[in-house]
Amino acid sequence: MSYDFIIIGAGIAGITMAEQAANILGKKVLLIDKRNHIGGNCYDYYNDDGILVHKYGPHIFHTNNTKVYNYLSLYTTWISYNHKVLGKIGGNLVPIPFNLISIDKCLPDISNNVKTAILDEYEVNQKVPILEMKKSDNPIIAKLAHFVYENVFLHYTEKMWGLTPEELDASVTSRVPIQISYDCRYFQDVYQGIPRDGYTNMFNNMLSNHNINILLEKDYHDIISIDYEQKKIYLYDEEFTGEVIFTGMIDEFFNYEYGPLPYRAMVFMDETSNQEHFQENATINYPNDYHFTRITEYKYLTGQVSDKTTIQLEFPEEYDYTDKNAIACYPIPQEKNEKLYMKYKLLADEFEQVTFIGRLAEYKYMNMDVVVEKVLNLISEKFTGV
Ligand SMILES: Cc1cc2nc3c(=O)[nH]c(=O)nc-3n(C[C@H](O)[C@H](O)[C@H](O)COP(=O)(O)OP(=O)(O)OC[C@H]3O[C@@H](n4cnc5c(N)ncnc54)[C@H](O)[C@@H]3O)c2cc1C
Repeated sequence: MSYDFIIIGAGIAGITMAEQAANILGKKVLLIDKRNHIGGNCYDYYNDDGILVHKYGPHIFHTNNTKVYNYLSLYTTWISYNHKVLGKIGGNLVPIPFNLISIDKCLPDISNNVKTAILDEYEVNQKVPILEMKKSDNPIIAKLAHFVYENVFLHYTEKMWGLTPEELDASVTSRVPIQISYDCRYFQDVYQGIPRDGYTNMFNNMLSNHNINILLEKDYHDIISIDYEQKKIYLYDEEFTGEVIFTGMIDEFFNYEYGPLPYRAMVFMDETSNQEHFQENATINYPNDYHFTRITEYKYLTGQVSDKTTIQLEFPEEYDYTDKNAIACYPIPQEKNEKLYMKYKLLADEFEQVTFIGRLAEYKYMNMDVVVEKVLNLISEKFTGV
């Protein structure tokens, strides 16, 4: 088969692109991934004990974008699900983001005074960054902010990134809020849910067009070569003149010419036990204890009924780009890394035949809805009429 599009990476970016290229543009697509499954980091599967788990960490779909929600709803129905997170703070399990209930639980002796002070100062439902609250002239508010900074934010951040908050971009640290409400939902978006039969099932539905050919367990280097001087792409040694969509790592595409872009890696450890539930909530964060950051129990997300349950622990680690098994999860938000990415982006901009899109190609943490929106926009802005 000859192809109009080669798409490298079968994550949600590559899959949405393949679906649109085949179904909307009527093109023939080759979709390649080095893993043995589709879905990228959103992949889910039934483990040996029959529990549906997310291989690369809990994924909750949430968006305010009706277009994206309607688009994915062509390929799945949804389990309505509002994610909630508790944090183990001292001996208490308290809502995260820290809210008025968390104040009651952690600071019972002074909670009425604290709540009166913050309700005087801020709007109900406002999300106030901890660092902003820390600067308050009101000593009781500053004390609350200090408590949250020390007990919820500081050690979690250090564990998560292997860096102190000062070493990270202010854009990240300044976003962590205290929520002035009793609303314990982790997200406030209009649409929130989990695909009823799982993400992988939704992706299979998206890829059902017979004009999409999927090659798994295939690193693109095995079949594609790149002439960087002439800016030409070869598929199985023959020049390919169609469109190339690249959703892998941008630094890898350019052979790490300026050095590797740093990521935080995650090791996911799953455990199944013979009990209905392991913990009282879907996700519990451990800011101050242990090497892992959080434990997620999947049956809460999926609504699955079983007398067994599977939990997943997440251990952040340094990412080594030479280790083929390492899972690059989060770009590290630091100005020097953004500058390094911009150097690669300049190279990418010169490669007109190749479109770089997705979290690895753009070196940017993006939720699923943002990635889908970007691909849908790309189709209408760049490819409609190709
Ligand atoms: C722990 C964690 C939890 C998250 N939770 C949420 C959530 O709750 N809600 C939400 O909206 N988002 C969440 N996200 C973000 C979500 O995972 C991303 O939005 C999504 O994975 C981006 O898709 P992508 O296609 O850009 O990248 P990926 O899913 O990484 O897909 C890229 C694909 O390219 C392939 N590839 C790379 N290099 C090569 C190569 N050399 N040859 C062939 N193939 C290659 C990879 O194998 C991969 O399959 C979470 C992310 C993490 C890390």
